[in-house]
Amino acid sequence: MMVEVKTFVDLADFIALRFTCRNCGGEVSASLLSESKLLSFPEGLSCPHCHKQWFEGPNDKRRDAIMVFLDRFTQLRSLKMPFDLQLEVSGTLAEKSA
Ligand SMILES: [Zn+2]
Repeated sequence: MMVEVKTFVDLADFIALRFTCRNCGGEVSASLLSESKLLSFPEGLSCPHCHKQWFEGPNDKRRDAIMVFLDRFTQLRSLKMPFDLQLEVSGTLAEKSA
């Protein structure tokens, strides 16, 4: 008998995006819970800890993609849908914490 375990996570369970600087290991989070925090990050174009530049400028495609993701994710979670929407993650949560 084969048993397959799948893990689905509600959008409401995601509370923040975590950014870990590859230069210094410092971390900063962008909240997915409030729009005011959403608008405040990323405040700058560099790591808030070591100040290494993360983005080429305010129009950097990577920075823009993060901002669009934050905006759309927050919007998607706030809209009433006629279905439950969850994200599937690979493996199981038990595997992730091992
Ligand atoms: Zn850093």
